[in-house]
Formats: sequence, C-alpha cells, structure tokens
Amino acid sequence: MALTGIEIFKMLPKTNCKECGYPTCLAFAMALASGKAELDACPYVSDEAKEKLAAASAPPIRPVKMAMGDAVKTIGGETVMFRHEKTFFNPTVIAGLITTANTDAEVDAKIANFNKLQFERVGLNLRPEMLVVKDANGDAAKFAAYAKKVAAGSDAIILLCTADAGVLKAGAEAVKDRKPVLGVATPDNADAFGALAKETGLALVAKADGYDALAELTTKLTGMGLKDLIIDAGARTLKQAFQDQVAIRRAALGPKFRPFGFPTITCPAEMTDDPMKEALYAAVFIAKYGGIVVLSDLQADTVFPLLLSRLNIFTDPQKPMIITPGIYEIGNPGPDSAVAVTTNFALTYFIVSGEIEASKVPTWLIIQDTEGLSVMTAWAAGKFSGDSVGMWVKKCGILDKAKNRTLIIPGYAAGISGDLEEELPDWKILIGPREASHIPAFLKSL
Ligand code: SF4
Repeated sequence: MALTGIEIFKMLPKTNCKECGYPTCLAFAMALASGKAELDACPYVSDEAKEKLAAASAPPIRPVKMAMGDAVKTIGGETVMFRHEKTFFNPTVIAGLITTANTDAEVDAKIANFNKLQFERVGLNLRPEMLVVKDANGDAAKFAAYAKKVAAGSDAIILLCTADAGVLKAGAEAVKDRKPVLGVATPDNADAFGALAKETGLALVAKADGYDALAELTTKLTGMGLKDLIIDAGARTLKQAFQDQVAIRRAALGPKFRPFGFPTITCPAEMTDDPMKEALYAAVFIAKYGGIVVLSDLQADTVFPLLLSRLNIFTDPQKPMIITPGIYEIGNPGPDSAVAVTTNFALTYFIVSGEIEASKVPTWLIIQDTEGLSVMTAWAAGKFSGDSVGMWVKKCGILDKAKNRTLIIPGYAAGISGDLEEELPDWKILIGPREASHIPAFLKSL
C-alpha cells in the first residue's frame, strides 16, 4: 500500500540539507508521496529505509529498459487504464520476427527491411525498434549466428527466443555487448533461464498459460532476484489475448498485484496467417496494452499505419503537440524573401513548412504562439487575431531580418487582415491559400 508523506518523512534523515533539491525533508517526502520526486535524489536514506520506501513508491507496472544500439528504449511504467485519465508514457515496441528456419538471404532481407522502415512525421522519426530471433530447430550455432547478424546489421533491440537453455546461452554470449532481452522462461525452464538472466543482468520474458501459472512464475523469478520481466499470458487467439491484456493491466493498477506489475509482450505473428488480420491484431494491442507486439514480417504497408496509430495513442491528450514560436528560415531566405505567418500547432507547422520547402521559394516563416491550436481554432479562440499577430510580427525580430514588408497570412484567417493592416501600417497583408497543398503554386506566383 502507498505510504503517506508523513510516513515517508519519518524514514528520512531529517537534516534538511537540501541536496535533494527540496528545502526540507518534509517537502521531499510530500513530493515522493505524490510521485513527483525519485528516492535516489536523497543520498542519505539508510538501506533499511530505502528498501521499505522503494517497495512503497515502486510504480505499479515496472518500467523495463532495453538497449537499442547506443540508445535505451523503455516499456511499461504505465499508471492508468485509459489514456484520457493522464497519458500513456512508453510506446509499444514494434518487433519483426526472424527464425532459424529462415535462410541467410531471408534474414539479410529482413534486416535490410527493418533498417529501411523509418518515416519522418511531425518532426519525429517513426520506426520499428526490435528484431526477435527465434529458435525453430534447437540449432544453437545457427541461433547465435543469426543473432550476430542482427547485431551487426542493425541497431535493433534483440529479443532471443527459445525454450532451450543451451541455445539461449549461445545466443546471449554471441551478442552480449548488445544487451539482448532473453526469452522465453516457462514453468519448466524457469530455474535455468532465471539463473542466466540473473548472471547476465538482462531482462527476461516469462510465459505461462493462465493467470495462476503466470503469477506463480513471476513470483518465482522475482524471488530469484530478477526485476526486469516482460510477461506473456500465453493466449494466441485475439479474444483471449485481449482479455488477458486488460486483466493484467487492471490487476497491476487496481489492487497493485505485484506478480502482474510488468510490461507485456503480444504475438500477432502467432495468431493468424493473414497479414491484414495480423496488422489489425497488432493495432488492438498497441491500443490495449501491449508493451511489445511481434509481427511475422515488417512491411511498409502495415508498419506505417501501426506507427501512426501508436503515435496517436502515446501522445499526451492534455498537451497539444507544439513547436517553439519564432522565425523559421526555409530555403535560406534573404532580406527580400517572402514572409509568412502561421500557428505553432506542430502539424500545421510541419505541413506548411513542408509545402514551402517543396515550392523551393525561400521564405521566412513566422510561428506565433497559439498554445498549440491550429489556424481556425486559434482564430475562433482569439489567439490568432489581428492584434496578436501584429504585435508578434513587431516583436519577433523579423524587422531586422527582412526588408520585404509583405506578410502572407493563412487563407482561413482572412478575417484578421483588416485589424492586421491597422496594427502593421507599413505592411501589405496578403491572404494565402486555405489549403497547404496550394502553397507552392501560390508562392511561385508572387
Ligand atoms: Fe532531507 Fe535527504 Fe533532502 Fe537532505 S537530501 S533535505 S536529508 S531528504
């Protein structure tokens, strides 16, 4: 059960040394109780208190970190059932499957495809993150060789997947520098797999059919000292696997059932042979509540929509995607180049700047702070008015950069042109197109 601020305070050193960044131990205790501070910030907590406090302040679903090249990817760490309650923090990892039944050429093609599937969207690089190397025939040498191939050819998170401890050891040894995730521990091999995970310090996938068996397995593995587990309740039908995801999340968050307090792995690859259904199943598990979804093959026509779906689910609904207000130079503009203005809603910016770039007409793009609202919404809310745009144009620094005194405003904000002319008497106000796709032709016609 969670501790109150006062209960936590009683276990702190009470020296008020401020090293944690809070003025007093009590303030730190209150921040800790509300999840706003990390226990590690106080260097003076005794080991005994640390143990008690860590257990009480541990997140209901453990965040598990995995190595992706030189970067780190986290899954788990979620705190709510529904995105609108707060937000979902750590996006589902999308994985492709390689098995030892694949030929060398097929493995090379899968790795090349994995590397190719990267998409720029709203300033982010969207891509799958993991390759699963699965043992299909107990051939330890081939398993290790394929794991090595993945490590050499990509920066993917590597998940090693076998039922044989000897095969797993060979794979883990082959790519130990890449800190792979180990799998799959079951009630039958838990001792050997748990020991290897403990010895190597690597995360481990634990799988058992049914809730009781899964809880027993994770309890056993945590009893062996393992902390970073990823769990699989075993079902390979959509209905049961979906129910499992909901039940596991609910048990972890509601009664804080520790045996289920881990991120999950889901395997649409093993649920159907139909690629279209597989993609739809993956979309279900991105929405609820897969930490990892494993696809049999990574193809652009299914991966791209899944990446977009993931982007939408894992953005904070309470925070609009925004970019910093200011002047953006597109195509190396000079003093006589065109000057345009729009809002700081990220999607507006990326679409407008993309079209300006495509036009090859050098342009100064002024971005006004509208708290992340798009043009029409900002205009309707009074955040993109003649007064506010005029004031920002005078303040943002464009007067020092551009001699041109023609300001292009979005077509949907044509209504502000009169006020803007009053606010900026030295400027000519030009109403731009309503649709971004018409921007290149418009700029070229100037
Ligand atoms: Fe108290 Fe520790 Fe913070 Fe110092 S660092 S004020 S001892 S909680």
